[in-house]
Amino acid sequence: MRPILATVSLNALRHNLAAVRKFAPHSKTMAVVKANGYGHGLINVAHGLSAADGFAVLGINEAIDLRDAGFQQTILLLEGVFCAQELNLASNLGLNVVIHSQQQLEMLESAILVKPMHVHLKMNSGMNRLGFQPEAFIHAQERLRACKNVADITLMTHFATADDEAGIDKPLKLFRTITQGLNLPVSLANSATILRHPDAHADWVRPGIMLYGASPVGDAAATAYGLMPVMQFTSEIIGVQEVNVGETVGYGNRFTATQPTRVGIVACGYADGYPRHAGLVSSYQGGAPIAVAGKLTTTLGRVSMDMLFCDLTNIPEAEIGSSVELWGNQVPVDAVAAASDTVGYELLCAVAPRVPMKVID
Ligand SMILES: *Cc1c(COP(=O)(O)O)cnc(C)c1O
Repeated sequence: MRPILATVSLNALRHNLAAVRKFAPHSKTMAVVKANGYGHGLINVAHGLSAADGFAVLGINEAIDLRDAGFQQTILLLEGVFCAQELNLASNLGLNVVIHSQQQLEMLESAILVKPMHVHLKMNSGMNRLGFQPEAFIHAQERLRACKNVADITLMTHFATADDEAGIDKPLKLFRTITQGLNLPVSLANSATILRHPDAHADWVRPGIMLYGASPVGDAAATAYGLMPVMQFTSEIIGVQEVNVGETVGYGNRFTATQPTRVGIVACGYADGYPRHAGLVSSYQGGAPIAVAGKLTTTLGRVSMDMLFCDLTNIPEAEIGSSVELWGNQVPVDAVAAASDTVGYELLCAVAPRVPMKVID
């Protein structure tokens, strides 16, 4: 069998959930498991995070899968529902739905439901993605309070710059001003907010990336926050080439040997989810980090669909069959992301369905 594998550690998930609780000891935790558990498998991660107070997903099918697997916690649909039929389903399943638009508000008001809904009312605090503008938000809140289809209301917003210097002072102040005196539970904090803005932890936190052991903040290592990588993305060397000075490697000749170079061929390519441009972006010098036989080295040249190249010159013991870590404990996914001008989120979510996944305790 092709030696590529993504190994998901339930222990690391439990550890990272405990870390969230240490950072935000007074908040309930809604584990964000959208995008197939950030690429780790929805049900896999739900088992690792079963102690969470709730789960947040995007679509109703994910919520159905969680309920079918026996998870009874609060489940939030982050974009709400897309039609009246889904609203009925959500009500039957006891889900929480985001209400972010006038259209969704009206759909809820005119629905005939078996049970009233749990509602997260979303304010647009400056990101200009989903949510009501402040004044419309207050108005929507009044209508929800008066609506027979509403069981309870939680107020939420999402910050655009919790991870950088701009911070959240301005949107947080706006949110606080607008919601003052409403006396309803509040949900504000993604991972960056949990790690960097304790004043905004509020009643519920919504961690995503930190649960998977990667960093939401470009310039800080996840391990510096005490997080453990959940995914070990591994493969093996399946070929070795001795390349002379002046010879090139891979499509487009993007690497030229300036010294005799021992090149390892790894069974992993962009069709497995490894970024094609890793190590070739202008913001980064040198190949992307990769570990072979437990030693750090770099990728060479351009990633192909099914294979990539790495430098074995200083790892003479490496040969066909040697282990390769694409990312995991030795090579932070954030380091591969930095070498690819993207974020760990994108790499984790992009691990392809053809990569077998193994869950370990
Ligand atoms: C995805 C998402 C989160 C989690 O964000 P992380 O940066 O992964 O912690 C939280 N809240 C909302 C609304 C989201 O869409």
